[in-house]
Amino acid sequence: MLTLGSNIKYLKGIGEKRAETLGRLGVSTVEDILRYYPRSYLDRTAVRNIGSLLPDENVCVSGQVITAPQTVRISGGRTRTKLRIADDTGVMDIIFFNQKYAAGNLKLYESYVFYGKVTGDLIRREMINPQYAPGAKAGEFLGIVPVYPLSAGVSQKLVSGAVKQALSACADLVEETLPEEVRKKFDLPQVGLALRQIHFPENFDAAQNARRRMAFEELFVLTMGLVLIKNRRDKKGGRRLRAVEMAPFMKALPYELTGAQHRCLADAIGDMTSGRLMNRLIQGDVGSGKTAVAAACAYFIGKNGGQCAYMAPTEILAEQHYVNLSPLLEKLGIKCALLTGGMKAAARREAERLAESGEAALIIGTHALISQKVSFNDLALVITDEQHRFGVGQRAALAEKGQDPHILVMSATPIPRTLALIMYGDLDVSILDELPPGRQAVKTYAVDESFRDRINRFIDKVINKGRQVFIVCPAVEEAEIEGLKSAQEHAAELQQNIFPHLRVGLVHGRMKSAEKEAAMGAFAAGELDILVATTVIEVGVDVPNATLMVVENADRFGLSQLHQLRGRVGRGEHESYCVLFKGAGDENAMARLKALERTNDGFAIAEEDLKQRGPGDFFGSRQHGLPQLTAADLTMDVRLLSQAQEAAEDFIKGGENQPGYAALKRRVDALFSTNSSFN
Ligand code: ADP
Ligand code: MG
Repeated sequence: MLTLGSNIKYLKGIGEKRAETLGRLGVSTVEDILRYYPRSYLDRTAVRNIGSLLPDENVCVSGQVITAPQTVRISGGRTRTKLRIADDTGVMDIIFFNQKYAAGNLKLYESYVFYGKVTGDLIRREMINPQYAPGAKAGEFLGIVPVYPLSAGVSQKLVSGAVKQALSACADLVEETLPEEVRKKFDLPQVGLALRQIHFPENFDAAQNARRRMAFEELFVLTMGLVLIKNRRDKKGGRRLRAVEMAPFMKALPYELTGAQHRCLADAIGDMTSGRLMNRLIQGDVGSGKTAVAAACAYFIGKNGGQCAYMAPTEILAEQHYVNLSPLLEKLGIKCALLTGGMKAAARREAERLAESGEAALIIGTHALISQKVSFNDLALVITDEQHRFGVGQRAALAEKGQDPHILVMSATPIPRTLALIMYGDLDVSILDELPPGRQAVKTYAVDESFRDRINRFIDKVINKGRQVFIVCPAVEEAEIEGLKSAQEHAAELQQNIFPHLRVGLVHGRMKSAEKEAAMGAFAAGELDILVATTVIEVGVDVPNATLMVVENADRFGLSQLHQLRGRVGRGEHESYCVLFKGAGDENAMARLKALERTNDGFAIAEEDLKQRGPGDFFGSRQHGLPQLTAADLTMDVRLLSQAQEAAEDFIKGGENQPGYAALKRRVDALFSTNSSFN
């Protein structure tokens, strides 16, 4: 007897070997395969007249074979089998490459149904390597056909066959986890029905409805998990810090905080003085002034006698924070230390000592702060900058070094709303939605190679005015990828041939930390006119005198990343510019880049970026530490997510003893068990 927990090897046609292959797709039980949803569907619902077909359509046709299949050898040891079919409206050639057996299957004067893409032209229509079935079996062949995500060694037929068996044996055994009121309220089908319809839908509406239900369930469970984490933490409580006179800090700052900075700071201090544990995200576009808020929090912690660890994603950024903050804070009696992986052993040991003894109240560093050797005397606050680059696990690992320290997360890349709600669903959020005064939008131009001379003259002009220029290249060294400008080559070319009268510097990720620092330092000090760089400068680097950002091969970057790069200029009082060289990309690439000419709104850009590239690429990797979603799609309508959230929050209020709670809690545990750092 098959049950939901049965190993898939017991399904007909699977066996040990294929079960192993499916295992690699995360499918090992009957329930797994029920929840292994199609990626898309083939529309084999309607049979079309051959005479009506246009090139490039995917269609079904029904026809009689009117010329016997003939197989010939072609180059490379391949074969081509050709036959002609006809219906009442026209004829079409059917061509198979390397499918000699098709010739044996398809008999002269018999009728078949075919599915495939129409090629050729209106006079001579063709279909290459179509799927087909004898006319007598058209009933089975026609319909909506699921297309599963596959890996080598597994065929569509194998998966859909297995799903069919699993559905007929077990679809009704799947526990209904969504409470009935919720299903009624949001018009969601029952789980067994939804599973049948997501795999083998009656029509496309049913498929969409089924997917909506499964996505809703997933988001409901995810939200429930996040809310439970948050509740558990709130119950535990956090260290209550005392209010601190902030005026000395404010006086020492070279500027007034913006209203938004004040609000975010008040949120954070409110948390830390409340007796609850702070878990707060400060989200703000590039240049919104997150560092000052972090510094104010560090001051607050220092005056409370505790320590603050401030983790940045790159050495350059950690160094820059240190260089900017230590003069300000040390004057106010807050001792600072810098700790990065690239430091000399002696300097590093000294930083470790300052952290361990408690002498330093603010320890700024990279993920080196997480290293085993580092310990703190009394870690009261952990700040992570540019959080999306750290896994959730890294945030947790640093927090382990104290006794439930408060946590403040700073995210510079505005992430789309759906994603934020999910990724940071266990955090409270403050938004820095105001740029410091006097900022102008960076004028942006997406251009092609024909603008090269003009842009070179523009670079010269900008530098003549006493300003500085960043030029970003996608590669470090020559010819890593055909057609990409490398920072090394481009810097040499500019210095020798284009701008011999200017001072050109170079910085990239493969340089030693000291070299990087020297180059960045020289640029910041105005000793270089042009800094050619890779994306190491993407985050945080602050040189207010730089007013022009040129990006080579801009089509190679995501929109959010370009927006981030553009944020390196426009940080001072001068009018600033960003030039995006399209590179080898096509007209679509140009259209994509033009979006940046139109808007400076990081959130709008992030939404666009997510739509274009999907969530995986948006983060550059799967390192974001989210449970993996299968039915829900992060580019989806944010409405489904807010409905699921609303329903889950309501449900939790009903308490642990209500019917269905235990079943849902099991699903929460299952979803979150794939990612232990959530617990
Ligand atoms: P981000 O939010 O991108 O980390 P930063 O903290 O690096 O932004 O701040 C960007 C720039 O704005 C820095 O040069 C900083 O000194 C300046 N800045 C921050 N807050 C203010 C303010 N309230 N008034 C004027 N300048 C500010
Ligand atoms: Mg920053």
